[in-house]
Amino acid sequence: MRRRTRNQRLYRLGFMALVANFAFDAIPLEAEVEVPNPFIARLGKLPDWSDLDDYQYTITREEFTYLLNHCYARNQEEEYRDLIRIEQDRALILKQSNHPASGWYDLRFRTDSLISATPKRYWRAPTELDGLQPNSTRPLKGVCIAIDPGHIGGRWVIWDDRHFTIGKDTIEVREGEMTLAVARILQRDLSLLGATVALTRNGNHPVTEDRVETLQEEARAYLRNRNKVPSSGAIAKTAKAMFAISSEIRARSDLLNEEFQPDLALCLHFNASPMNMRRPSFQGPNHLDLLINGCYSRGEIEEDDTRFEMLLRILQRIYYEEVRLSDAISRTMKFETRLPSFSYDGTNGMSVNNNDILWARNLLANRVFMCPVVFFELYCMNHHEVHARVQAGEYRGLREFNGTYRKNIYQEYADGITAGLVNYFRHRR
Ligand SMILES: [Zn+2]
Repeated sequence: MRRRTRNQRLYRLGFMALVANFAFDAIPLEAEVEVPNPFIARLGKLPDWSDLDDYQYTITREEFTYLLNHCYARNQEEEYRDLIRIEQDRALILKQSNHPASGWYDLRFRTDSLISATPKRYWRAPTELDGLQPNSTRPLKGVCIAIDPGHIGGRWVIWDDRHFTIGKDTIEVREGEMTLAVARILQRDLSLLGATVALTRNGNHPVTEDRVETLQEEARAYLRNRNKVPSSGAIAKTAKAMFAISSEIRARSDLLNEEFQPDLALCLHFNASPMNMRRPSFQGPNHLDLLINGCYSRGEIEEDDTRFEMLLRILQRIYYEEVRLSDAISRTMKFETRLPSFSYDGTNGMSVNNNDILWARNLLANRVFMCPVVFFELYCMNHHEVHARVQAGEYRGLREFNGTYRKNIYQEYADGITAGLVNYFRHRR
């Protein structure tokens, strides 16, 4: 069941205070210092900066700067100037971006004279797990893996726009149900290989207890906070995104970070090429990309919660594990799916190494799941061959599509991941 974290409750209390403040807008008190409402992401949690105390003296200036510039800040210092100041022996982090009087968090760097420490984190790298017997048939023994089937299925598909029908007498394509099909195959196969597997959702219903109707006031406050006109259309759109994306992913993140505490998380998605949703039609592209967390814009780093979460990922050195895992899985995914890579323009996704399938993007799930996350985007659902394979469902054996015999699309997706994980853990532990 959904349990709100302390900070979420605080945020909601802050929101109530905000509503109360509107009543007194007409009588400002001159002596009062106005503290603006903090700039935070949709349904974000106010950060408790003292949580970074555990990371004092754990990272060198060089490594901190490298990670920030190489993977996280899209255009290096341009994105974090006046928000994060890198001094010789410390990083100064502005606590509230729109209120400099809130002060700076002082993060001291590790220097050669101090003993390095493994950063505080709940996840374990493969080298921290027990070693394997040669030729072990359970290479994932002891590895805790969370699987996040993207979106929601069933009657909830109407809220997230990831469903469509092309052609007469065809099955509706529903991403939230397709990702759950892959998750269930993975759960079975990875468990047989020794892993402990947890799914963030196990059916076609939301994990969050929020609903579009209950988020109206929060949507209105969010728009006001961003200086946007809270028209009824804007409120409806924001409340919908708050339910299907923000609240749902945050509820899954509470489960993952507080209960499962996995060693890695797999976020499963199917892709789609842009099209007119009123008249869905087949589109040309079909491709494969794997995403790790990174590529933050200035606007994102200005959000106090987002800046805090980015710093936690840097301080936990999540980047290295995400890249190694993704590199290994991308090779087997490419082999299984035979899909070409996809290119981002460097704005909403950027390259971090010479793997043309791997991109850094800042998405809510791969930011707030506080462990290495591999986020999958593959098979464009409105490509004619993918559509035909979705119509064919979960058949056994092989079937011919465009002259090639293929496994069912869900098994193929899962096998690409399983083979990559087996290779990775055999090699690394
Ligand atoms: Zn998706």
